[in-house]
Amino acid sequence: AKAGHRGTFHAFEPRMDEEVRGRRALEQDLRGALERGEFELHYQPQVDLATELVSGFEALVRWRHPVRGLVEPGAFIPVAEETGLIVRLGAWVLARACADAAAWPVPARVAVNLSPVQFITPGLPEAVAAALERSGLPPGRLELEITESVRLIDNDTNLLVLHAFRDAGIQVALDDFGTGFASLSYLRAFPFSKIKIDRSFVSDIGRDEGCLAIVRAATRLARDLGMDTIAEGIETPLQLLQLRQLGCAEGQGYLFGRPMPGADVPALLLAEPRR
Ligand code: C2E
Ligand code: CA
Ligand code: CA
Ligand code: CA
Repeated sequence: AKAGHRGTFHAFEPRMDEEVRGRRALEQDLRGALERGEFELHYQPQVDLATELVSGFEALVRWRHPVRGLVEPGAFIPVAEETGLIVRLGAWVLARACADAAAWPVPARVAVNLSPVQFITPGLPEAVAAALERSGLPPGRLELEITESVRLIDNDTNLLVLHAFRDAGIQVALDDFGTGFASLSYLRAFPFSKIKIDRSFVSDIGRDEGCLAIVRAATRLARDLGMDTIAEGIETPLQLLQLRQLGCAEGQGYLFGRPMPGADVPALLLAEPRR
């Protein structure tokens, strides 16, 4: 089905088939990818907005596919969640991130994304404990990023798990803040260490009064609740300036650095002025 043919109606169906076939192939490939060691973690710096010094890194998974090349998580995390593979993949990510961070020349924090699917599957506390224990990473250097998902805080077991993390000294951040419909009930249900303001608000902060107001309210709310704030997706100096003025403590985005291979992290840390 080539573009330019008349009748998009007919051109549409073969493309759908291709999509379904592509997805099936992806699913098949994904099952063996962990055993074949095809996943890798890239790290994106998180900086203190006042000093622009690196405070930590977010671990972002990539799939080094033998044919497709480097595949972004958006293309396989949803499939991994549907197939349940996310549980093993997530455990691998935790272990890898903790081991990498424990070997860094400067004790920076590492932030690891958790899928809601990992939460509703028993064994998460054990996976986190094992990753910390085997790596020797102090719990205070690990931050877990979770997104809003209704099932998470509606469930006492999940809340107990979150509290157990915090009691162990692990930081827990609420990711993509403002995009879910439950943000405020989330903040009431659980004392997050930090809220992560979603990129969609940051990108329009200079153009849209509404975005500015939302980010201002979010930082204010976090401060009043004793939580830290980090803004994601900072791309321009103007965004940095505005976020700083609003009192946002930390930031992450292409302005400071793109996700980089793990091997590049030590050099970046060593190039920073001593803290
Ligand atoms: P996220 O947690 O919101 O991660 C931030 C995403 O924004 C990353 O995309 C990052 O590369 C991108 N980004 C960072 N700074 C900028 C910027 O200045 N501008 C723009 N346009 N984009 C920026 P990435 O690596 O493709 O990850 C996408 C999503 O995949 C993540 O969104 C996260 O939800 C998920 N993900 C990544 N790694 C993992 C993982 O290990 N486990 C789980 N469960 N999910 C993961
Ligand atoms: Ca994240
Ligand atoms: Ca995010
Ligand atoms: Ca986001």
